Amino acid sequence: MKFTMSERSDSFSQIASSLASIARGFYLRGWLVGTSGNLSAVVDREPLRLAMSPSGVDKGELVSEQVLMIDDDARVVGDYRAKPSDESPLHLRIVKELGAGAVLHTHSIWNTILSDFYFADGGVAIEGYEMLKGLQGVNTHEHREWLPIIENSQDMLALADSIGDTLTKHKGAHGLLLRRHGLYSWGKDLAQAKRHVEILEFLLEAVGRTLLIKGKR
Ligand SMILES: [Zn+2]
Repeated sequence: MKFTMSERSDSFSQIASSLASIARGFYLRGWLVGTSGNLSAVVDREPLRLAMSPSGVDKGELVSEQVLMIDDDARVVGDYRAKPSDESPLHLRIVKELGAGAVLHTHSIWNTILSDFYFADGGVAIEGYEMLKGLQGVNTHEHREWLPIIENSQDMLALADSIGDTLTKHKGAHGLLLRRHGLYSWGKDLAQAKRHVEILEFLLEAVGRTLLIKGKR
């Protein structure tokens, strides 16, 4: 999934306020508890500027004034100075690889469990669900979505490279999982990225609960 990099983004303050509001919403869903997860959106392409959530902040209480502006090396360039999320290099890589306008990362129970359960398969196949149609470019429930799973690491630059390789291999992916860690999804803008996270979290929960009901894989 590639995006065209044409139009200039909304102003930083508008983006920061949408980002904070999405963070609070996801927190209430249980997807960003304990300061986990992070969110970003492109403010400018040339030079690249991202609105990025700060490190270690309660996402249920995030306000737009705390949202940082970073450059393509994850250095803070805006007026508000704080530490950007450790996972900023992963956001930057996804933005650069795909031309995405926003990248959202959640730590839900279901994405954590399934990223481990299906790790040996290399990914989770999700097919046959009406909700798949919420993913950009998908027009039928007969679509088969492949959510690749990457081994987790604390080496963010190595992890960014693994993500880059995975995105090259799986061009149609709307998201990816880091093992026992969480979900990354993206979109042409924050609204689309938010929709993709909601759809993928819904589908992962549906897959996980189905496994429980069936009592087997
Ligand atoms: Zn994370």
